[in-house]
Amino acid sequence: MPQPSKDIAMNLHFETPLMESRPLSVLAGRSIWLKLDALQLPGSFKIRGIGHACAVYQSQGAQRFVSSSGGNAGLAVAYAGRRLGVPVTVVVPETTTERAKELLRLEGAEVVVHGSSWQEANQFAQTLLGPTDAFLHPFDDPLLWHGHATMIDEVAQANLKPDAVVLSVGGGGLLSGVVEGLQRNQWHDVPVLAVETEGAASFHAAVQAGYTVELERISSVATSLGAKRVCEQALRCAHEHPIQSLVVSDHSSLAACERFLADHRILVEPACGAALSVVYDQAPVLASYSKVLVIVCGGATATIDQIRTWAGQLDKS
Ligand SMILES: *Cc1c(COP(=O)(O)O)cnc(C)c1O
Repeated sequence: MPQPSKDIAMNLHFETPLMESRPLSVLAGRSIWLKLDALQLPGSFKIRGIGHACAVYQSQGAQRFVSSSGGNAGLAVAYAGRRLGVPVTVVVPETTTERAKELLRLEGAEVVVHGSSWQEANQFAQTLLGPTDAFLHPFDDPLLWHGHATMIDEVAQANLKPDAVVLSVGGGGLLSGVVEGLQRNQWHDVPVLAVETEGAASFHAAVQAGYTVELERISSVATSLGAKRVCEQALRCAHEHPIQSLVVSDHSSLAACERFLADHRILVEPACGAALSVVYDQAPVLASYSKVLVIVCGGATATIDQIRTWAGQLDKS
């Protein structure tokens, strides 16, 4: 076996394709550009920030990475640990799908099943932490935002200044990273359209209230957007950068997943379908922009069968 590299400058993510989508541009009657982070090996953009954070924590002496995410954040930690040669433990609740557990084990992570909710799994994960362990938060860590911001650096290096950026919001890590990227490339005037699904709209609630609020419960199939409360940084971004909050339905998000698969042969989670649905549903807000960049954030935890099952259940209800 080759020795894993310990070089902190080593990127664990790829520079992803940036392309103008013909089907989406024709549909929307304007230029729609896609940043295809769905193509990252662990399935989503999360490896940008988590890969960066893991490399930094390793350089500071961490000998194990611990996560409590059975979703794309946990997958990114597992992948980063394998690449860096650091063992990974992921604590997940009993509700986690077999598929997610299999994907985590495929990356060589130790999967510990504990509790009936994410809160219980997360509390247990905290009790496991020793002095040489690093806990990787899924969205609330400045190291994550620095890493996520590289996706905007790549767009700037391609000399493509969009009129607006469309992305989805869960806990607000992606939003915080993209705003950091826009600002460090002097694109203060490029607004962000921040999309959530009904039942997971914790950023929308925070913007309305003027402070972060905790949703009572999450009721959306876009599980990767299911943070009950966004990080404070997300709200700070809303004060320091032009951001418009949009809320779409699960139905629209699922339909966007199907259409994107047909148009570009890439399967994404409903969490990502939410952002794409703004284009597929020709949201009126797009009328003010002629060149729109959509962050195709990806997602590895849903299958096409699952997406169709959810869509069928919504049709019946
Ligand atoms: C994590 C995730 C999001 C939301 O990102 P936050 O940083 O939590 O806002 C959106 N889409 C996918 C596929 C994700 O994995």
